[in-house]
Amino acid sequence: MENTLFTGVNILDCTGAEPYPGEVLVEGKRITAIARGTDKLPRDNSDVIEGGGTATLMPGLIESHAHLSIDNVDDLASIGMIPPEENTLIAMRNAAFYLDCGITSCISAAASKARMDVVIRNAINKGEIAGPRLLAASPWLTVTGGLGDMRTLHMPDISSMALMADGPEEFRRLTRELIREGVDIIKLVISGDTFVPHAPSDSTVMSEAEVAAAAEVVHAHGKRMSAHARSADSVKLAVKHGVKVIYHANFADEEAIDMLEANKDWVFVSPNIGFTATAAYEGSEWFTEEEVVELGFREELEGAAKGLQELRRRGIRILGGGDYGFFVTPHGDNAKDLGHLIKYCGFTPMEALQSMTKHGGAAMDLPNELGQIQEGFLADLLLVDGDPLAEPEVLLDRDKLIAVMKDGQFHKQSK
Ligand SMILES: [Zn+2]
Repeated sequence: MENTLFTGVNILDCTGAEPYPGEVLVEGKRITAIARGTDKLPRDNSDVIEGGGTATLMPGLIESHAHLSIDNVDDLASIGMIPPEENTLIAMRNAAFYLDCGITSCISAAASKARMDVVIRNAINKGEIAGPRLLAASPWLTVTGGLGDMRTLHMPDISSMALMADGPEEFRRLTRELIREGVDIIKLVISGDTFVPHAPSDSTVMSEAEVAAAAEVVHAHGKRMSAHARSADSVKLAVKHGVKVIYHANFADEEAIDMLEANKDWVFVSPNIGFTATAAYEGSEWFTEEEVVELGFREELEGAAKGLQELRRRGIRILGGGDYGFFVTPHGDNAKDLGHLIKYCGFTPMEALQSMTKHGGAAMDLPNELGQIQEGFLADLLLVDGDPLAEPEVLLDRDKLIAVMKDGQFHKQSK
């Protein structure tokens, strides 16, 4: 295989160090050598990519809460209604689009059908379709009446995107079945949500016995869990039962934050403030001023930002991206979260970038292989016309992504 040498680039390695000029050599799937300053690397058998001294080379973005099979919808019911054939095409198209946007890895946060992420992941891994490195999730598992249960008494058979289960035995069976079908991640909905009138965000709707039953099966099979956990008790249940990626955590209280801190070597928080931040301050297209106030988006954002600053202060790793694929948060806007973390949560630009690179790599269980530019790491790289540290929004402009590489192969390369 031909090697690739990037020269004349500013290397933003996302280790936390300041960018530096240099060269990066890619052989096969991996970064094999890095030169700093005016040092030169051997260029035999290499395709030489010239950055002209101004382009930035950085790791590909890692989305921690992906929904590739959801198509920018404005209601949850339509996700269940769409037939699997059409839905598969949507997921395929979004997978390729994520690479176009510089997102080279995704931790799925729920698929719309039991096998949807699994077949997309397998096709990507075989090289049959374009798409990011993907951890495949189940549809989200919810209790009767929880987020995404679209059934009513007179229409009990209506399709829901969520899979409903009640009691530990049902959670055990469903978890086993989904693992049999090949998912990497079982997604639990432990808390309520703003959009569920009878189960608001600060309520905890799954019982501990149900969480424990799913966890027992997941751990026995060496798989992983993620959880929609807004309420304080849901965060505590998630930590107690080994949920690696905790979504939202916006009502985490002191005890929950203490538990997260005590387990910070393996647990990650993905706040997914994109929807809330956009709805709170940039949402006039979708919400009237009265609705913004009534739905409490600004208070929710303020509360989440306060909690996040505390988590950050205590060294809990925060993951960026999240819940893109809905009307307020269309696919491709994922890197907006960098700006949200900086603007509303007091993150430095470097901390924000690391939430979608270095920490994402660790959350994918590849802390020494993914999400940084270091020798030996996987060559998932972006060549950017600009400086994402000074101007993170440059990553939202696909024309500024000169090259997108995954596993040492160019997905995109404009000359
Ligand atoms: Zn989600």
